[in-house]
Amino acid sequence: MCQVEEDYNGLERNQEKIPVPTFNRKCVKCKEGTAVLIIRVNDAFCRSCFKEYFIHKFRAMLGKNRVIFPQEKVLLAVSGGAASCSMLSQVQEGLSREAPKKLRFVPGILHIDDGGACGRSAEERQRSNALLKSIFTDTGFPYFIVSLEQVFSLPSSVLVPGTSDPDPSNPGYKQAVDQYIKEKQTLTEENVASAVAQLSLEDSPEHKLALERLFSSLKTLTAKEDMLQTLRLHLILHIARENGYSKVMMGDSCSRLAVKLLSNIALGRGAALASDTGFSDARYGDVVIVRPMRDYSSKEIAFYSRMFHVPSVFISGLDTKTHDKASIQRLTESFVTNLQSDFPSTVSTIYRTSEKLHTVMPPQSQTAEPASKCLLCLCTLDTKENKASAFHATLVSEQLSQFKRQDPSVDAPEQCCTEGQGCGSGDCCSSNRLPSHQDLKTLLCYSCSLTIKDMVATNTLPPYITTEAEKRQKRSRMKMEIREYLLEDDEEDGD
Ligand SMILES: [Zn+2]
Ligand SMILES: [Zn+2]
Repeated sequence: MCQVEEDYNGLERNQEKIPVPTFNRKCVKCKEGTAVLIIRVNDAFCRSCFKEYFIHKFRAMLGKNRVIFPQEKVLLAVSGGAASCSMLSQVQEGLSREAPKKLRFVPGILHIDDGGACGRSAEERQRSNALLKSIFTDTGFPYFIVSLEQVFSLPSSVLVPGTSDPDPSNPGYKQAVDQYIKEKQTLTEENVASAVAQLSLEDSPEHKLALERLFSSLKTLTAKEDMLQTLRLHLILHIARENGYSKVMMGDSCSRLAVKLLSNIALGRGAALASDTGFSDARYGDVVIVRPMRDYSSKEIAFYSRMFHVPSVFISGLDTKTHDKASIQRLTESFVTNLQSDFPSTVSTIYRTSEKLHTVMPPQSQTAEPASKCLLCLCTLDTKENKASAFHATLVSEQLSQFKRQDPSVDAPEQCCTEGQGCGSGDCCSSNRLPSHQDLKTLLCYSCSLTIKDMVATNTLPPYITTEAEKRQKRSRMKMEIREYLLEDDEEDGD
């Protein structure tokens, strides 16, 4: 991030060198204050106008989209970075009594500690969690700090999209506002004040080991990053559902989303692009992801957090200290960063493309049955979209040959270590047969199947994934059995 800024500053200095130095310029907005920063080529803002601009942008984004209802519980996913911490400070600002147009939702904070997957030491994790804890406590909002190891105790229901009931029970925005005004008298400040801190960091040593095994089973950094993002989302989703949050706010900036957009294309996630990068993402049904920071560039965020002392915590990730070409995500990031420094407006052009996609692409179907959604990312399966595709044909033939190999009348001895490797856990072989790469492939979208393909052993996946895979596999086997039966019937009738 610092790199971006320095490049930026260098660029601006070059441009402004001859006519007027930055520090002598007046603010373009109030025409009085001395400009302290330049956002775009001719927009020089003074300190107070910049603050106003920054705050206004956040409210405008929420106001324009009108997806958050008064008194709705909204979970803020805070990684500790500048973008999500600025988001947190904007929510605080908006809820404060002095705010001209008060935000009316009920916030909570969630931080996922992914140190176990990123190889951070116990001390490092403790230190960053303590820092975050003090930041979160200061807000007075209820908060959760949860370790990624918790995915090993998730229920398989996480992977089933909830029903959102978009029509009858869910009131329209105006109705919700009216309701809110009516109930306003009964609403006290207690709601916010009754902050409950929840830390589930007590992980069993088995879970710690299981997470390590899972990530060392992934052969490439690209797959590791993809898996980390998937698991993190499942955990966020679970915690939101468990605690009655129906919206989750993510701090993705415009620069971040531009990287995501391009890397997702490279990763084969084209079909899910609109929901992966749009303002709101309703693929999970009952919990909707919103991205209110998507209009801010990382430069604006960096300036704001420095100028107004927004506390944040640096936490090293999977790709910290890796070279530019270590993963597709990392390579795209360095590409966008360089673009941003050489051609600043290009990044917002990329990001605006995602907005256009959002309108052209049909929204993700919320009513589709779980089997038609990807097991891991829950997007609508692109692999089944085109029944005439070669991909589909291969899938069907693989599925059929596998199905025929298994004689349904004889219960074959349950196997556990499908990859011919020891599974390491004692009671594993008595449990369900674990799905192989091939089994999983039929349940995954194109992109997720590539990630799984990069795994040495699928039996390192958390139980909630393998259990749900097993369930869906059984269902589809049954469907195929019925289809074959009906087909035979038809043939007999024809004779
Ligand atoms: Zn000004
Ligand atoms: Zn997927």
